[in-house]
Amino acid sequence: MPVYLDNSATTAVAPEVLDAMYPFFIEEMGNAQSVHTFGQRAKSAVENARRLVAGLIGASPAEIVFVSGGTEADNLAITGVARAYAAYGRHIITSAVEHPAVLSTCSSLESEGFEVTYLPVGRAGVVRSEDIRAALKDTTVLISLMYANNETGVVQPIAEAGAIVQEARRTVNPHLYFHTDAVQAAGKINISLSELGVDLLSISAHKIHGPKGIGALYVKKGTRLAKLIHGGHHERDRRAGTENVPAIAGFGKACEIARVSLNEHSARMNFLRDRLESGIAARVEDVGINGDPALRLPNISSMSFGGVDGESLLIALDLKGVAVSTGSACSSGSLEPSHVLTAMGLSREEVRGSIRFSLSSFTTQDEIDYAIQTVSETVEHLRRMTPLESEPHPAATRA
Ligand code: PLP
Repeated sequence: MPVYLDNSATTAVAPEVLDAMYPFFIEEMGNAQSVHTFGQRAKSAVENARRLVAGLIGASPAEIVFVSGGTEADNLAITGVARAYAAYGRHIITSAVEHPAVLSTCSSLESEGFEVTYLPVGRAGVVRSEDIRAALKDTTVLISLMYANNETGVVQPIAEAGAIVQEARRTVNPHLYFHTDAVQAAGKINISLSELGVDLLSISAHKIHGPKGIGALYVKKGTRLAKLIHGGHHERDRRAGTENVPAIAGFGKACEIARVSLNEHSARMNFLRDRLESGIAARVEDVGINGDPALRLPNISSMSFGGVDGESLLIALDLKGVAVSTGSACSSGSLEPSHVLTAMGLSREEVRGSIRFSLSSFTTQDEIDYAIQTVSETVEHLRRMTPLESEPHPAATRA
């Protein structure tokens, strides 16, 4: 049976989401900017979806900007704030374990003359408040700290960081803004903006059973952003381009389902993720969980198998119908060791032997039980074939 456990890379579109999108491809084809009735119906679908997206995170609809996905949301937040407030300072704080959408944006700003501090994490994968405080300067205009990590599921202390930002705005730099990449966290844990002190927050539809290629940036009222995409006055002049009405309608539906079913879905994913971990741990020796097990999203498990090469395990599991990942979808295939696990201080051997399982609300107990059995057998098989060694065999590296 094919078992898809790579839901942090992307999820299947929910049938209700597909139904919500369908009319906007065909009979409701209007451009949301058009004055005629077709256009007005498209516009009202966009505004309805905006309310539903806002509802998932406790924002007001006017604070939601539709963009092409999590990557663009991160780019717009970071580059948008950095350029808009450059006159007040050119220093940015982020963490070493962010998604490439954040890290590459920061490094691109470094080449424009911005200075970036990359906060370290400990073995648990968590940023420490003291390190945030110590990194603050009177030139810091932005802190970007992910809500939950895409490789380990580890949740960062966002409310604590938000409180530090509010204090620093009074004492260090009044033009300091706080962005969080909540692409993995949204729909998995309750996000309530009123408790967070966050100014900008990124989300993406395809991680929560919505379509690919649509996402949103929450921008707190009063936060200025330099534009990245120039053209018409769409999205309150923040993001030009004809609205992707079917995708936006589907995104709204996905957020509505995620909000209504959050507790039930999270509890079920948590139960199945724990079953997967304990089932494998009961059958396989020398296996560890990466990141603080108590501080994780309910649907992600990053496990390290001693004496096993993660890429080989991934391929062997794929042949048996179990889809997993060795890191984020964006960096897999690069053969670079995971920057997240490396930053957490795992040894090369541990990083090399790690794979990520990620569940969705569609994952069933039968699938998990099949995965437990298949993973256990495959790990044992690989260990019998390749004796324990700390470095890959030179011939294997060349192949
Ligand atoms: N941020 C995080 C934490 C992610 O996991 C991802 C996708 O894997 C992204 C950003 C990028 O989102 P998108 O695929 O919608 O561009």
